[in-house]
Amino acid sequence: MSKTYKICLLPGDGIGPEIVAEAVKVLEKLAPKYDVEFDFTEALIGGCAIDEAGEPLPQATLDVANASDAVLLGAVGGPKWDTTDSTKPRPEQGLLAIRKELGLYTNLRPVQIFSALSQASTLKSEIVEGVDIAIVRELTGGLYFGERHRYYDEEGAGANGGKGQRAVDTLEYREYEVERIARQAFEAAKTRRGRVTSVDKANVLDTSRMWREVVHRVHDEEYPEIELIDMLVDNTAMQLVNNPRQFDVLVTENMFGDILSDEAAQITGSLGMLASASIGDGVSLFEPSHGSAPDIAGRGIANPLAQILSAGMMLQYAFGMTEAAADITRAITEVLDEGWRTGDIKDPETPEDKIVGTAAMGDLVVAHL
Ligand code: NAD
Repeated sequence: MSKTYKICLLPGDGIGPEIVAEAVKVLEKLAPKYDVEFDFTEALIGGCAIDEAGEPLPQATLDVANASDAVLLGAVGGPKWDTTDSTKPRPEQGLLAIRKELGLYTNLRPVQIFSALSQASTLKSEIVEGVDIAIVRELTGGLYFGERHRYYDEEGAGANGGKGQRAVDTLEYREYEVERIARQAFEAAKTRRGRVTSVDKANVLDTSRMWREVVHRVHDEEYPEIELIDMLVDNTAMQLVNNPRQFDVLVTENMFGDILSDEAAQITGSLGMLASASIGDGVSLFEPSHGSAPDIAGRGIANPLAQILSAGMMLQYAFGMTEAAADITRAITEVLDEGWRTGDIKDPETPEDKIVGTAAMGDLVVAHL
C-alpha cells in the first residue's frame, strides 16, 4: 500500500496562490512514480487570514499544520495590510507566529547557481560560477522575538521638542538556542565540504560574544573535524559579493541571517529561484525565500521555481524522498537549459530566451519529470 503524506498548504497572499498551485502540480506528477500519495489541506495565513478571521494565524490553521507531515507555504503580506499602527494585526505576524508555534528554530537556505542563469547575476559570472552556500539562520531568538516597547520622556524629545518618543527592541539569546543551531550547521557541513563560517558582531555585542563561545565549545567537543571560521557580519556582507565561493555553510543569528540571506539571494540573480526550509524537532515548513510580490500578483507572470524547489526540499527533508527532490532539480535544470524563462530571470542580452508565464513554467517542469 502506498504511503500517504499529509501536506498543509498555506498559499497566503499576492503571488502565493499562483505559485503554490504549480508546486502542487509537480508533487501530483511525482506521487505515482514514487508510490506515495499527497493529501493536501489548505488553510489561511497572513493578510487573507486577517480579512477572513481577523488574525494572521488563526487557531484553525495551526491545528491543520500540527496534524500534517509538512507545511508548504507561499508568501504573505501586501500594501493592503501595511500599517505603522503597532496595535493592528500584520500579515508577517502570522509567519513569525507559525515558526514559533511549530518550534522551527532553523532556516536553511541553499544558495546555488544554475549554470544557465549565471549571466543573471549582477556579479561577474567568473565570481559566481560554482557558488554553493548553505545559509543556516537561527529563527526563533534574537531581536525579532525580544521584548519591545515604546515610551515617552524628555530625553526622547531632545533639543527639537516633539513627543519625546523612545522605542526599545531587545536582542537576547539563550545558550541552548545557540547550541542547537550550531549543531545543525556542523551536521550540514558534514554532508557538504566540511567548513562552517560562524557570523557574529563579537567586537560590539555581548550576545555575539556568547554566540562565539558556544559555537566553539560545540565545535571542539562534538565536531573537531569540521573547519570553523569566525567572521564579523559587516565583513561577511562584503565577502559575499567579493568572493562568495569561499563559503560552504554559513551560520548566524536571526537578523543577520535575514539580511545576509537576501544579499546571498541576489548573487543568484533572482529571488524567484531560492527555496528555503524551516526545521525544528516536529513539523517542518517549506517556502520560497521571496515575498508576496504584490507588484506582479494576479498577472500570471510570477516565477514558480523557488516554490517548486521548496516542495523539493520538503520531499528531501520531511519525507526522506531524496531521489524525488533530485528529479525536481534535474527537471528545472533541463527547462532552463532549453532557454525557458519567466520575466524575472530573462537575460536581455539573450534574445533566444523564451518567456513563459507561471502556469506554463509549472507545466514545463511537469513535462520534464
Ligand atoms: P518581494 O520578495 O515580494 O518582491 C521583491 C521583488 O522581487 C519584486 O519586484 C517582485 O516582483 C520580485 N519577485 C519576488 N518574487 C518573485 C517571483 N517569484 N517571480 C518574479 N518576481 C518576483 O519583497 P517585497 O516587495 O519587499 O515585499 C512584498 C511583500 O511581501 C511585503 O508585504 C513583505 O512584507 C512581504 N514579504 C513576505 C515574505 C514571506 O512571506 N516570507 C518575505 C519577504 C517579504
